[in-house]
Amino acid sequence: MDGTVIRITLSLIVPSLILVFAIAFVCTWLVERKRPYLLLLAAGCGLFALGSTSQILYWPPDTGINALVSGTIYTCAVIAVSEGVLSRSGRRSKMLVNLALVLTISALLWYFFYVDRNLIARVYIQNFGYGLILLGAAIRLADLRKGRVADRILFWTLLLFAVHFFPRTLLTIGFSAPAGAKAFGNSVFWQALQLSMAVLGSSLAFAIIGAAISDLIDDLRRERDSDHLTRVLNRRGFEAAVEARRMRHGSRASLVVCDVDQFKAINDAHGHAVGDPVLERVATILRTSSEADDPVGRLGGEEFAIYLVGASGAEAYGCAERLREAIARTDFSDLGLSRPVTVSFGIATTADGPWGDLYKEADGWLYQAKNAGRNRTFPEPVQSLTDDSLPLPA
Ligand code: GH3
Ligand code: MG
Ligand code: MG
Repeated sequence: MDGTVIRITLSLIVPSLILVFAIAFVCTWLVERKRPYLLLLAAGCGLFALGSTSQILYWPPDTGINALVSGTIYTCAVIAVSEGVLSRSGRRSKMLVNLALVLTISALLWYFFYVDRNLIARVYIQNFGYGLILLGAAIRLADLRKGRVADRILFWTLLLFAVHFFPRTLLTIGFSAPAGAKAFGNSVFWQALQLSMAVLGSSLAFAIIGAAISDLIDDLRRERDSDHLTRVLNRRGFEAAVEARRMRHGSRASLVVCDVDQFKAINDAHGHAVGDPVLERVATILRTSSEADDPVGRLGGEEFAIYLVGASGAEAYGCAERLREAIARTDFSDLGLSRPVTVSFGIATTADGPWGDLYKEADGWLYQAKNAGRNRTFPEPVQSLTDDSLPLPA
């Protein structure tokens, strides 16, 4: 086989690998259609493979048109990748800026081929341009540095990939670059640069796939831990969240449990079609009126709980009373209920001991609140006692 054929075949390995990433992104999107950013990344990889193939196979076969076509395809590829990673993190797309970038880079490539032929200028424009586009994306994603492991890996790989375009350019046009477009294109030096691009580009693709998998795992975990009807945590999720907070902040906290009063009567009179939205609204009040970091869970049926990290008994009582009043004030007449919906609360505060004991104590107080006539919070704080020494349930 002739040397050129071997060289071309070897060169095509890189775009083929990148094409595999494009296919992987499309397949992941087919499974997870709610993540359109995967399609942007597929487009980025697909375009990169196309641009590189057009250069390697020298098609279109006119040097100027080839430089312009492959350059424009590369620019679109870099923009698609940067938009893909930005869109994964919910950053808004800047369509006009992107269009201006494609037009400017292509116009400059045209100028430095047809008006003032200058290979070095073209190398500078493409590499610095792509480095700056990706660096801009990395800067906009700077908060990923403090995120999960997958986010951090993605940020640093993107930054490295962006920054590598600058020394790469200097090396390309520096002391060791062979002179002349043809010699340059055939040189081991150019192949080495292509390889460094392939290694860093593949690392970025792996980092993005890792981040997408970690997003998927997070979603599944959220789904496993949340209650479908009320969108608060389910019992499993709530207990796990309490456990995590006890590990992080120690066991000084208050547990507030509550149960909708006479809920069976609501169900019996109006059916589940009304009972369910009542539960949803109660849960929404509990969720929106609590601190964002305090877990709210549905422990079962019409019973909910909130775990207040670091809260004293008096603080938990104040919180429960606010919630109780907010629910009692809520208008349910649109659901056909003529009477207010009320909720009873039980509280336990502890410095130590297992979670089960805390729950048992709060549930004991909830039972007493029911027996005392419902729509109340037990135990009321005793003025002379310290917050942590609330009375024990009878
Ligand atoms: P109390 O004031 O003593 O708490 O009385 P209650 O009627 O609220 O309590 P009870 O335990 O007798 O009834 C709870 C009802 O909640 C019975 C059950 O059918 C209903 N329930 C449990 N889960 C759901 C649900 O997901 N949706 C609806 N609509 N009802 C539910
Ligand atoms: Mg009830
Ligand atoms: Mg109940």
